[in-house]
Amino acid sequence: MALSGVKCTVSNCTYNDSNNLCSASAIEVNVDGGGQSARASQQTNCNTFSAK
Ligand code: SF4
Repeated sequence: MALSGVKCTVSNCTYNDSNNLCSASAIEVNVDGGGQSARASQQTNCNTFSAK
């Protein structure tokens, strides 16, 4: 079952389904390089990612 409202195009993640949805039970998103403040979306990443 997909996480409601979470679209993801990382096709090589274990949790990514064929409809660009995330099937993980929950996700954790962090700031690239650490800390708790990002200036742009490019500075955030999904820590739940797991390569197929
Ligand atoms: S775990 Fe993260 S990278 Fe993987 S499908 Fe879900 S949102 Fe995308």
